[in-house]
Amino acid sequence: MENAIHLYNTLARRKELFEPINAPHVGMYVCGPTVYSDVHLGNCRTFISFDLIFRYLKYSGYKVRYVRNITDAGHLEGDRDEGDDKFAKRAKLEQLEPMEIVQKYTLGFHDVLRMFNTLPPSIEPTATGHITEQIEMIKEIMANGYAYEANGTVYFDVEKYSSHYNYTILTNRNLEDMLANTRELGGQDEKRGRLDFALWIKAKPETIMRWPSPWGVGFPGWHIECSAMSAKYLGDEFDIHGGGMDLAATHHTNEIAQSEACNHKQPAKYWMHTNMLTVNGTRMSKSAGNGFLPGELFTGNHPLLDRGYSPMTVKFFMLQAHYRSTLDFSNEALDASEKGFKRLMNAINLLGKLVPSAESDFEIEPLISNCVKAMNDDFNSPVVIAELFEATRIINTIHDGKGKISAPELEKMKKLIDDFVFNIFGLMDEDASNTELHSVMDMVIDIRKAAKENKDYATSDKIRIGLQSMGIQLKDSKDGTTWIKA
Ligand code: AMP
Ligand code: ZN
Repeated sequence: MENAIHLYNTLARRKELFEPINAPHVGMYVCGPTVYSDVHLGNCRTFISFDLIFRYLKYSGYKVRYVRNITDAGHLEGDRDEGDDKFAKRAKLEQLEPMEIVQKYTLGFHDVLRMFNTLPPSIEPTATGHITEQIEMIKEIMANGYAYEANGTVYFDVEKYSSHYNYTILTNRNLEDMLANTRELGGQDEKRGRLDFALWIKAKPETIMRWPSPWGVGFPGWHIECSAMSAKYLGDEFDIHGGGMDLAATHHTNEIAQSEACNHKQPAKYWMHTNMLTVNGTRMSKSAGNGFLPGELFTGNHPLLDRGYSPMTVKFFMLQAHYRSTLDFSNEALDASEKGFKRLMNAINLLGKLVPSAESDFEIEPLISNCVKAMNDDFNSPVVIAELFEATRIINTIHDGKGKISAPELEKMKKLIDDFVFNIFGLMDEDASNTELHSVMDMVIDIRKAAKENKDYATSDKIRIGLQSMGIQLKDSKDGTTWIKA
């Protein structure tokens, strides 16, 4: 049985019950990175948010096809067809082929997302691998009368489209205001209308990434790739389309227009937008130059950082905010997340060592149902984390001998942790992967036990105090000795 999930649909401007078109199948398309430079932490926040959504849909019983593209061509510096090609510019700077740039930063993107323990999408199509599909779609839009060619470039006719459809349906802006805020066309312009945007762009003599088309040699516009690839892998109508909020006004607005002009259907039933990671209140972005690279955050090697933070600390920090709220980066907030995450992981390590009693002072079912309820309410991860801290408190109370738990309740607690911490949040115990440390600690605890049995308190104290100076605390109880990293 699937969960009754309510999600915020940008198109409807409210939370709606999630009813897939063809349950239990779910098609989800998320706009991927433009791989012309390293992904910054803001990009990571969006992909971590959709990883949470992907994981929870799967946990809820849906069979999800998750498509996340790689933009490796066609993205000009300005979102409205102005400026240089991002790849060509970077290639010149780094003295590499554009496709070397694409390869380098695609690999880097995958490395970073692996560190954050996100799941790979089901399909990861590239724009350059789908030129034919984009050309076919442009031909269809032209045949339907919503695009025109001017001197080797093809433009989408926003005015014509607006006479049959609502161009601003996604963001509910006023078209007149939009027109008033857009630069007036001059004599040099090929466009018929101010809001028209390019579907196909004529290559300049120096353009390296170029393909033949019915309109001459050129390259596709940025927006058309997502319309073509989402339709190819998910159909003309699919369930969820996602991306960062900054994409709604132009990129997603144009995607909807292209798909409708081609297929006469709204492409996605639900549009989901993640909010921005900010630095001192300003959106983190490549162009603003305030972007931390994940590597800089892990090592602490950045002027704005006091020290480094581990990938799981950073992920926990992100999950402590709802995906539709802004999240401001600060050293203090990361310090607090690190403490909280360690507290949770220490409790989880103790969980395996708890000995069940006949009776139970705690019921775990309400915690589980609160977590499910929170996730069903538009994927409210901060509420889940509050419940996980309650679980932490319960585990510590039992471990301190101040409460009892029965075997069935203990099993429920283990399931809660497995489901929500590891499966849905995709968190990992970064120390647990250090199996050597665990083996060494088992041995040290054994030696200390033997020393105590031989009344060799000098040795047992030396071990305890020595470990303490390394930040490892031993805790003795009637069931044996456990350790935590302070
Ligand atoms: P790009 O590589 O610029 O095309 O962006 C890739 C994804 O990251 C898009 O979905 C953007 O909306 C998203 N994104 C960009 N900047 C931020 C930010 N500061 N916080 C969260 N998401 C962002
Ligand atoms: Zn897109």
